[in-house]
Amino acid sequence: MSDADPRARASDAREDRVEGTLLGGACGDALGVPYELGSAPLAAGEVPRMIGGGLGPYAPGEWSDDTQMAVVIARAAAEHGLRTVDALDAVVTGWVDWLASGASDVGTQTRQVLGEVAADVDGARAAERARLASYALHAQTGRTAGNGSLMRTAPVALALLDDPAALGEQARAISGLTHADPLAGDACVLWCHAIRRAVLDGDVPDLAEHVVELPHARRDQWAGWIADAERRTPSAFAPNGYVVTALQAAWSAICHPLGDGPLVVASLSAAVHAGDDTDTVAAIAGSLLGAAHGASALSAEWLDAVHGWPGLRADDLRDLARRVADRGDPAAVDLQVSDELDEVAEHLVSRGLGEGHHFVVHGRPVRGGRSSEYIGLRVLDDGSYRVWYSGDRGTPRTYVETPDWAVARQRFVDEVELLGASRGDWKAPRRHRWKRR
Ligand SMILES: [Mg+2]
Repeated sequence: MSDADPRARASDAREDRVEGTLLGGACGDALGVPYELGSAPLAAGEVPRMIGGGLGPYAPGEWSDDTQMAVVIARAAAEHGLRTVDALDAVVTGWVDWLASGASDVGTQTRQVLGEVAADVDGARAAERARLASYALHAQTGRTAGNGSLMRTAPVALALLDDPAALGEQARAISGLTHADPLAGDACVLWCHAIRRAVLDGDVPDLAEHVVELPHARRDQWAGWIADAERRTPSAFAPNGYVVTALQAAWSAICHPLGDGPLVVASLSAAVHAGDDTDTVAAIAGSLLGAAHGASALSAEWLDAVHGWPGLRADDLRDLARRVADRGDPAAVDLQVSDELDEVAEHLVSRGLGEGHHFVVHGRPVRGGRSSEYIGLRVLDDGSYRVWYSGDRGTPRTYVETPDWAVARQRFVDEVELLGASRGDWKAPRRHRWKRR
């Protein structure tokens, strides 16, 4: 490619933000641990430190259940992606193993659901058992909107950077494995979309813009909650064990940094000063801050200290985050976009299709949102091209694999236009033929 350097730099910066998503969450978690529920005093304006203790008690720099549960999701995503039933089974099985062996502290609701999954050996699949236990708990108590699914949701965004429709569905599905309340699902959908935009754009997005990803009936309510968080400081949202106030406290902290230090330090200080469930609020805030500003914006002192179950340190989280993004993002992160592919992207975007360089084009509308169908195009290791279709069930089908760029491009554009033509908000243009190059 002609101008490799700017692209290499862009790719490095994006990788920094991919790593920052997990590391920012882990640093927020370890920073908040000492102060959870007032375990250690924190004077007004004091900068929190990773001194350990808390409810564990934890070692200095050690992260808690928030990051532990996120690591389980990330490992399953690195292995399987996050589109299939197998992947969700791996998430639940991983949590059950964690609960049996590594959990330092566990939310009430999570413990109850995973306990039932572990006890139930009737042969049903793990994710299905968790979902049923979670919905049964919700039916029984009507109170399952704790912050325990939001605190661990960041890896879902990394796994589906290329596929916003699937991201919304899977963020809600993975939330529902333990937290059936629709508000918990909404919060995960909102935060994952914000993280995805932050990784792609390198900036903290306008959270309110993402309420369109939620069901119509609750959009105004969420817009009001977000506006409230932008008006008030984080401590206004304590107690924050409720998923809505946890999200508000985290967003408020991002909007109201505390002190004159570097932005991420000041924002995470504000998150810890929210009080109450300090590690969770700071973990939630940290994942979005890390996604926007990258691992390089985190303090070196934090990165040296941060560690936790299952025996991981900062470099391990970097590696894990990259593997999740590579695995879940075959069409975007991994793709070295050539000039020709840029040209195709421009063509599609000018017709209201696609996602810029990501070559993800979604299909017909379905009840409750878009279908997760898409057409993909990528360069293979040997330099040839593959064009494929991924259906609602996530099983990809290869249309063509060819060394001939013109053939791949034409097939991709044809299939995209065919799929796009069935989309409600898009009118098919006149048939377009590429000039043979
Ligand atoms: Mg915790």
